[in-house]
Amino acid sequence: MFKYLFQKCMKFIGITLIIFFLLLYIMIFYSYIYDLCQIYYIYFEKSLAVGLLMLIVGYYLGFCIIFNYAMGIFVHPGKSNVKKHRNYQLNGLDESDEDDDPHNFVNIQDTRPKICRKCNDFKPLRAHHCSICNECIYKMDHHCPWLDNCVGYENHRYFLSFIFYLMVSMFYLSSLFFYIDHHHAGFRDAKQVSTKIFPVVQLLCYVLSFVLLAFNGWNWYLAMKGYTAVEFWGSRSDGKDPSEYAFQYPTVSQNLYHIFGTYSYFKMLLPSTRALPHDGTKWECLSQPKRQHKINEDIEKQNQARNRNIQKYEDEVDDEEEQKFNSFERNAIIKDRKIQFQGNSDEGGDDEMEDGL
Ligand SMILES: [Zn+2]
Ligand SMILES: [Zn+2]
Repeated sequence: MFKYLFQKCMKFIGITLIIFFLLLYIMIFYSYIYDLCQIYYIYFEKSLAVGLLMLIVGYYLGFCIIFNYAMGIFVHPGKSNVKKHRNYQLNGLDESDEDDDPHNFVNIQDTRPKICRKCNDFKPLRAHHCSICNECIYKMDHHCPWLDNCVGYENHRYFLSFIFYLMVSMFYLSSLFFYIDHHHAGFRDAKQVSTKIFPVVQLLCYVLSFVLLAFNGWNWYLAMKGYTAVEFWGSRSDGKDPSEYAFQYPTVSQNLYHIFGTYSYFKMLLPSTRALPHDGTKWECLSQPKRQHKINEDIEKQNQARNRNIQKYEDEVDDEEEQKFNSFERNAIIKDRKIQFQGNSDEGGDDEMEDGL
């Protein structure tokens, strides 16, 4: 009952935040077109070039924000389907012991995929059960109330692009406001056309610029390092270094490739629905340096043990061979003598032939 109420409550908050964001977006966009574009247009002596350039930049940024926001909301972050679930059940996977260890799914000692106890569904590496969405999300980063959706394997790129374009837009608007404030005399006439929301939007842009700078810095740092927020905080609460987990790739471009599906930094930021490298269930554990170091150590130990065994075996074989050789040599001498003796008694001419050969 409590769980049901919690889920309903979070869904209600999510939808409220989406409506709130859209109203804010409309307000700021309206102010940009009717205040800033007009003010600059008038200030630069009704220059068509300035007016057009500001409209193009504004519409492009506005489109990138709305496109990535909508995709972040409507694209499912990644989950299994019934067919996969049945197949994995048939294969007899273990149940997840998440109740005992909430972060077991990032444990490099046990990289087998599992079945989630809570939703009875396939739970591959890096998946996490979201208690608000009530399902396992592939490569779950976090549940975002502003999207009313989880951020996971399939929509992580839209979330990152969304916050990036929001930050760029806020800095762009703030710099335009800042320029007006520091050339107040020149803008006095132009500001006559501004609407009542102009000062509110100005304050909002200044504040949001710095909030979004910090928010972007944090989320892009995790993405570039190849961690999800769940893994990062999970490792902290387990008292571990997050780099001990084996899913990070050595370079930034490799880590971002598994989020955006391209190695090109330019293409990453263009609005796109390109396919990702895999379905979110295949995670290799080979690139992590410590993991590799551990593997090398294990191989070295195995080699040393094998060399010791080989040496021991060779010593034993040498002893045996020596014994065998001694007995063989003795037998051979006896045999030679017998042949010699028989040869001498039967056919004396053959001795000469054998000696010659
Ligand atoms: Zn689950
Ligand atoms: Zn969720």
